[in-house]
Amino acid sequence: MIRILNCFVKLVHIASYVRIKNNMGKINEYTNLVCKGYCAFYKEGKEELLCGTYQYIISNFTEEKIRDIPQDYKPDFSKDQKIMDLICSKCEFLIDGCGYREGEGTPPCGGYTIVEWLLKHS
Ligand code: SF4
Repeated sequence: MIRILNCFVKLVHIASYVRIKNNMGKINEYTNLVCKGYCAFYKEGKEELLCGTYQYIISNFTEEKIRDIPQDYKPDFSKDQKIMDLICSKCEFLIDGCGYREGEGTPPCGGYTIVEWLLKHS
C-alpha cells in the first residue's frame, strides 16, 4: 500500500513539473508576442511585472490570434473607455505606474494596443 502511495505522490510531482514547464513556455511565448512586439516599456528581466492587458490577453486569446495583428498597428483610442472599464480599472499599474492613464502624455502599454485591435476585429 505504501509503495502504491509513494508511486502516486511521484506521479503528482511529475505532473506538476510538466504543467509548470508548459505554462512557462506559454508565458515566454506571450511575452515575445505582446511585450517585445508592442510595448515601449518592456525591459528584459522584468517579466514578473504583468500589466492588466497582458493578463487579459493570456486568459482570452490564443497566440495565433495575436499573430494576426499587424506589427505596425497604432492605437486610435476608439475603445478607450471599454478598455478602461474592462481591464485598466483592475490593473496594478493604474495608480502610480501608468503614465498613459495618469495623463503624462506617454503611450499606453503594448497590451492596450493589442486589446484595442482585437476589440475592433472581433
Ligand atoms: S494602459 Fe496602463 S492601466 Fe491600462 S493595462 Fe496598460 S499599464 Fe495597465
